[in-house]
Amino acid sequence: MDEIINRVKTQTPGEKEFHQAVGEVMEAILPVLDKNPVYRKAGILERLVAPERIIIFRVPWMDDRGKVQVNTGFRIEMNNALGPYKGGLRFHPSVTLGILKFLAFEQVFKNALATLPLGGGSGGSDFDPMGKSDMEVMRFCQSFMTELFRHIGPHTDVPGGDIGVGSREIGYLFGMYRKLKNRFEGVMTGKGLGWGGSLMRPEATGYGCVYFTAEMMATRWNQTLEGKKCLVSGAGNVARHTIEKLVAIGGTVLTASDSSGYIYDEEGIDLDKLTYLNRLKTVRRGRVAEYADKYPYAVYIPADATLDHHPLWSHRADCAFPCATENEINQKDAYNLVNNGIRVVCEGASMPCTPEAVELFTHRESILYAPAKAANAGGMAVSGLEMAQNNMRLTWTREEIDKRMKIIIKQIHQTCLDAAEQYEYPGNYMVGANITGFIKVVDAMLDQGLV
Ligand code: NAP
Repeated sequence: MDEIINRVKTQTPGEKEFHQAVGEVMEAILPVLDKNPVYRKAGILERLVAPERIIIFRVPWMDDRGKVQVNTGFRIEMNNALGPYKGGLRFHPSVTLGILKFLAFEQVFKNALATLPLGGGSGGSDFDPMGKSDMEVMRFCQSFMTELFRHIGPHTDVPGGDIGVGSREIGYLFGMYRKLKNRFEGVMTGKGLGWGGSLMRPEATGYGCVYFTAEMMATRWNQTLEGKKCLVSGAGNVARHTIEKLVAIGGTVLTASDSSGYIYDEEGIDLDKLTYLNRLKTVRRGRVAEYADKYPYAVYIPADATLDHHPLWSHRADCAFPCATENEINQKDAYNLVNNGIRVVCEGASMPCTPEAVELFTHRESILYAPAKAANAGGMAVSGLEMAQNNMRLTWTREEIDKRMKIIIKQIHQTCLDAAEQYEYPGNYMVGANITGFIKVVDAMLDQGLV
């Protein structure tokens, strides 16, 4: 195991997020390897950590002043043993190959865990949509697609959204794909409702997190989220829909954030305030700081890069929903949460807790910790439903999709618990999620031979 991890580190120097994601999976699946020497013999681990294909390309585009700009585009096709590559596109200045490889690696196991007939991939660019005009975003997306279209397709690779890629970007990307291919087909998820999108897709990841948490609390503690104080980070798609569902079922949400800072509202974010936040973020594309200007009980705390912790996680609360980005809860944040009475941590974002934070949460019996692979699989589940609707050329109702998503999340929850129990880590969702996803993928790889 150490040999594999060391080899990954040597072969991919500097890709620290990828090393972290590989390390987490490897540690969790150790008991499976001990019981099944056939996986080692077949070189499964060596194959799993190597992407099947990496595409890197130049994305030239023109800004509104007529100046040529050049960004880098990526698509990581990690593993398609279970179906076409599937995973988001991220547009953010922090994007690197290592970040996209971690997302693609995670996606393989997440899709397998959700029992979707989909492989795993990821992609994106270091392009920053923040502060760009709609026309600049359109020109960038069109240029990005003039290369990506060669590599994707409904049976090959189906991208969706992630940080910085919402319905606007998916629209521009899909429009260019359709023009270049002269085909209207289900090649992307997160599409607009009028042209092949699915009801509930925007809500799915956030709602799914809350459903998973509710299921955990009901099964393990016979409790509900009603009346629970919740800390949520982010103010993007996942965060806002997590807040919406928490408020709908009676939780009190105290915080929201973006990369500039966070707001703390001691009265709680209600549905009216959330409507304001939604407009602020999606229509005006403003900063979360403006929320505190509008609501007098809310305070705004600007981000401070000199701190060794994020003060959002230092408030007293029952549940934490990190929904912004990777490694946003470090060891110090984890201690602050524990010392302030946190009982539940549910990962809405991809890998938002550092390994030290995960270690702390999973070793406390008094804490329920839901890892991203399981907790935020609702989005991928509804992407799978969007693809199914596209194939059948029909549209399911909101109620139908919500019902199907709840069933999938219940199954994921139970499968995680069963696997954790079977491998003698009772109640450990992190171990359960990784083991279940791993077995599903590697058994398919074994069946399909050395390819
Ligand atoms: P989004 O709509 O673009 O929102 C991202 C939010 O996180 C924004 O508030 C953003 O603030 C903040 N953020 C991004 N990078 C940050 C950084 N380095 N430091 C501090 N804040 C940062 O993206 P999203 O779709 O909600 O995705 C959020 C997370 O959920 C990601 O980890 C993503 O991989 C994961 N996820 C998303 C989906 C989905 O369906 N969308 C599914 C599964 C997992 P600024 O506006 O200031 O950048």
